[in-house]
Amino acid sequence: MSSVTPKLTLNDGNQIPQVGFGVYLSPPGEATLASVSEALRIGYRHIDTASMYGNEADVGKAVKSSGIPREAVFITTKLWNADQGFDTTLKAFDQSFKNLNVDYVDLYLLHWPVEGKRINSWKALSQIKRSGRVRSIGVSNFMVHHLEEIINATGVVPAVNQIELSPYLYSSDVINFCKKNNIIVEAYSPLTRSKKLVDLKLKSIADKYAKTTAQILIRWSLQHGFVPLPKSNTPSRIKENFGVFDFEINEQDMNTLDSFNENFRTCWDPTSVS
Ligand code: NDP
Repeated sequence: MSSVTPKLTLNDGNQIPQVGFGVYLSPPGEATLASVSEALRIGYRHIDTASMYGNEADVGKAVKSSGIPREAVFITTKLWNADQGFDTTLKAFDQSFKNLNVDYVDLYLLHWPVEGKRINSWKALSQIKRSGRVRSIGVSNFMVHHLEEIINATGVVPAVNQIELSPYLYSSDVINFCKKNNIIVEAYSPLTRSKKLVDLKLKSIADKYAKTTAQILIRWSLQHGFVPLPKSNTPSRIKENFGVFDFEINEQDMNTLDSFNENFRTCWDPTSVS
């Protein structure tokens, strides 16, 4: 299996491995420690956690005990909604930093565009970045109006926007805005939480490439220049989801996949947050 994940360059010059390993709903303790360790063994070099997931400490431990040099692994965590606001953000980051027990965090995200608080929280992230404890800062679940608001208020463009994204939820307005503003788009729930993996039209494309439907969804994200973040606690699937570097989906099949959009959302919906 290929162990070299391609990297993308963020708008601040830092690099991000293009496949991340998600750990939402990965139980804190042994389970997360084991699955992150397995992911690192397989070749993943990017882990996506959040303070809300309750497993930052296990992610930090798995990275440390892997023996892989710290600079070879990209670690993301996120600010939880209840902690938004300038001072509370600084305090929440201190806690995440302590939980992860690393010298620096690669990417710190606002988890959600909390109305009335997101601008001050975003200013706090800039301050944390200046302290050197975080290399890059970004947002998650931000739609175009949320992005415009924080950029206009601070002049600081997020390095990434992490949104729910798959062929079944392919939101061109926010993606186009991100492309235009040099914001890398990360795809969360890229496997539709497995709900669409049995879709026959997806299955027929997968069969053509002798790949699984999960692999097709991840590869679709990669070929669009997104950063997919598949999650699994199952060793065979952790391996399967990384087997995406030895084939290419042709243009016609990419177009077919693009046409699957049906605004199918598995997670929370930020579109109505004003
Ligand atoms: P995914 O789309 O990654 O799906 C995960 C589910 O699919 C799990 O139930 C997993 O089961 C199953 N699965 C994984 N691989 C396969 C496979 N090859 N075949 C069949 N089933 C499979 O959903 P998530 O919502 O977890 O999203 C991924 C990551 O994105 C999260 O872990 C988190 O890091 C991030 N995220 C961010 C959000 C945000 O608001 N910023 C919101 C949601 C997610 P099992 O584990 O049992 O193998």
